Amino acid sequence: MVQHHQHEVVIVGAGGAGLMAALYASRSADTAVLSKLYPTRSHTGAAQGGIGAALGNLEEDHADWHTFDTVKGSDYLGDQDAIEYMCTQAVPVVYELEHMGLPFSRNPDGTIAQRRFGGHTNNETKKPVMRSCYAADRTGHMILQTLYQQCIKNKVNFYDEFHVLDLLMRDGVVNGVVAVELATGDLHVFHAKSVVFATGGHGRVWEVTSNAYAYTGDGVAIAMRRGLPAQDLEFFQFHPTGIFKMGILITEGVRGEGGILVNDQGERFMERYAPTVKDLASRDVVSRSIFLEVKEGRGINGGRYVHLDMRPETVNKYAELDGRTGPDGKPLIVTGEQLLSKVPDIVDFARTYLGVDPIKELMPIQPTAHYAMGGIPTNFHTQVLADAKGAVVPGFFAAGEVACVSVHGANRLGTNSLLDLVVFGKEAGIKAAEYAKGADYKPLDEDPTAFTREQLDRLLAGKGGEKIVTIAEEMKMKMMDDVGVFRTAEGMHSAAEKMRELRSRYLNVSVDDHGRRFNTDLLNAWELGCLLDVALVTAVSAEARPESRGAHAREDFPQRDDANWLKHSLAWLDGDQVKLDYKPVTITKHQPMERVY
Ligand SMILES: Cc1cc2nc3c(=O)[nH]c(=O)nc-3n(C[C@H](O)[C@H](O)[C@H](O)COP(=O)(O)OP(=O)(O)OC[C@H]3O[C@@H](n4cnc5c(N)ncnc54)[C@H](O)[C@@H]3O)c2cc1C
Repeated sequence: MVQHHQHEVVIVGAGGAGLMAALYASRSADTAVLSKLYPTRSHTGAAQGGIGAALGNLEEDHADWHTFDTVKGSDYLGDQDAIEYMCTQAVPVVYELEHMGLPFSRNPDGTIAQRRFGGHTNNETKKPVMRSCYAADRTGHMILQTLYQQCIKNKVNFYDEFHVLDLLMRDGVVNGVVAVELATGDLHVFHAKSVVFATGGHGRVWEVTSNAYAYTGDGVAIAMRRGLPAQDLEFFQFHPTGIFKMGILITEGVRGEGGILVNDQGERFMERYAPTVKDLASRDVVSRSIFLEVKEGRGINGGRYVHLDMRPETVNKYAELDGRTGPDGKPLIVTGEQLLSKVPDIVDFARTYLGVDPIKELMPIQPTAHYAMGGIPTNFHTQVLADAKGAVVPGFFAAGEVACVSVHGANRLGTNSLLDLVVFGKEAGIKAAEYAKGADYKPLDEDPTAFTREQLDRLLAGKGGEKIVTIAEEMKMKMMDDVGVFRTAEGMHSAAEKMRELRSRYLNVSVDDHGRRFNTDLLNAWELGCLLDVALVTAVSAEARPESRGAHAREDFPQRDDANWLKHSLAWLDGDQVKLDYKPVTITKHQPMERVY
């Protein structure tokens, strides 16, 4: 049975970006939010360390410094107009969250507490600056809860556990989506004037990841299946500190509070790779340093991991050396209890998953696949773009991790994603409602669910005996080995070939559950199809870029090549072929320079 609905603005995704968009759109338009997860289970709720804004509550800071750090962190691939907008909006938007009731941690004088984070610096002294606004190590959780409450208050229509499988378009104009209702298996057509995608990332492509199971790249894959491009997919961030083997994230906030990385010889190796900011260099730099330590045999006991040390005696030993001072200018001496109050969840994770008490012992960590810098191309009004010339897809908007504005370029700074969500989620809500006010409902195609049924029927009919788990395992291992922290032409080429093979084997996948209600087996199989599409485009886009920039580090091309490659990639997926095009980076104030940390 197909059910029909009509709303002026339909938002897909109920994480930070989707809820912020909903809050703003619902002020002037009839707004619905569709989410495959119950809203407060969105990955935003897992964000730990904080949201970046140059409030300057504890030391001097400026939006201009935040802008420059973000441009530099992006390895100059970020679009500077969008970055400047985001960093300038950061200050009012954090206060806006505060006024909505977000329970930030506080300084003794009552202002919002802030801490250091990788890549965020005082541009004059080059030392780390306290810019990350946090609510203990549960910042994302607090943002999500606060925004959800506000949306309920604003009477946003929620369709929880509705899994969107297709984007509807007519004559190049977006006019709705098709979703499966998890509880019943029914198909629902949502007729809309504006559609906003806020579906999050796709870290489940890789074997070791900090990402939720739901991070399967649905938004990007759905758009590509409708002939739209994906931007900069070759840039995927590995966070330096995932729990060894499991990938569960240990926030950069631990190093922000003074934790350090050590190798098998007990050496604080980041002093060699980034003499000024050391353990607080940007994530791409720290992940590569760990990888090199391991490669040169200095992993712990020769293994594939190093240690993160946040014991108070270590933190205090380096306080003076690193210039970590309190408001009184004296070295910041901390106790175990204070550390526990700043990162309680991390201490809990370490105890639960590692059997280690981080106040007394060392934590084994390794880089973990963390964040998609690439995604659906948009301008900084969040309008989705169809080509390298900047043609807008009418009625279609994207925000949050699924989108590529691009404010993160080749490498995102910690705390800048939560910021991206609220700044561009808000923009998406405003722009989608504005557009809806001036537009009519475009008629739907005669059979709007045809493509969705075709995809599901094929999966249900599959009798080839290929298992979802086997294909997923092979994809994850290959992408981890060959399109991970370090890359070579040969590795990426073989990864692309492997993804083509897996995509053809995927056609023979069979699902065990043929029922209608809560058929997660079927939907997981559909999600795997999205991951394979995204993985193929990632491998091909990466192989086509013969330089090292940000998170894209090539052993065969170790240098950044601004003369030829200071440009964004756009990729279209057609069958198993990927067509690439490029567009220039917007540079306003900051000419590319060598990155020194
Ligand atoms: C462990 C962890 C810690 C992090 N810590 C920080 C931090 O401290 N600071 C920071 O700035 N960033 C952090 N990040 C990054 C940041 O949290 C994410 O990039 C951000 O939360 C993504 O938000 P979003 O709104 O784009 O997506 P999400 O919050 O993931 O929401 C996606 C939504 O889309 C829905 N959805 C997806 N596909 C479909 C579909 N097909 N149909 C219907 N609904 C769909 C989901 O149900 C969900 O509601 C962290 C990330 C992780 C994984």
